[in-house]
Amino acid sequence: MLNIVLFGPPGAGKGTQADKIIEKYNLVHLSTGDILRSELAAKTELGLEAKRFMDKGELVPDEVVIGMIESKIDSNKNANGFVFDGFPRTTEQAKALDALLHRKDIDVTGLIVLEVDHDELVKRLVDRGKGSGREDDKDVSIIENRIQVYEKKTIPVVEYYKSQGKYNPVNGVGDIEDIFTNVCSVIDKL
Ligand code: AMP
Repeated sequence: MLNIVLFGPPGAGKGTQADKIIEKYNLVHLSTGDILRSELAAKTELGLEAKRFMDKGELVPDEVVIGMIESKIDSNKNANGFVFDGFPRTTEQAKALDALLHRKDIDVTGLIVLEVDHDELVKRLVDRGKGSGREDDKDVSIIENRIQVYEKKTIPVVEYYKSQGKYNPVNGVGDIEDIFTNVCSVIDKL
């Protein structure tokens, strides 16, 4: 089973690369951001609760996203593997993911980090905000907060996977197809 954690700051291109990876390697895409937005669109209790955090660019509590991921893994029993996108975002989430995969005798195969500099991220998110309809893409101060939350709470996750020898950085700036070629060469070596 191939289980990839696709990692990087907001605006790094995780969603774009995840779509291409799942098609090529026949994997299931699990994006906690997408799941939360669909809960919100359906106006579920979970979605409405999550909105309070999402609109400010803050993280939704660990137990909420861990529970969501667990039920998605359980409902995809025949999957060849998963691409985790936007999860784990804290060390607690990374530990919980390991624990729940180990219970099924599987493991995270590798972490792929898309590296993009700060100014390019802000530019991409402001551009995306013009068409995405996402509240958290509309305001530069919320965008900056999301990048700060990434640096403070999410970067430590990289150390967690580094210590397991699973860290693979990829330059996330440039042509989408070139980035995908580099992502695939990492995956093919895993
Ligand atoms: P994303 O689509 O990955 O940029 O996520 C959008 C928002 O959803 C984030 O700013 C958080 O508020 C929330 N979110 C998504 N994934 C997580 C996660 N793994 N942990 C906590 N909050 C999350």
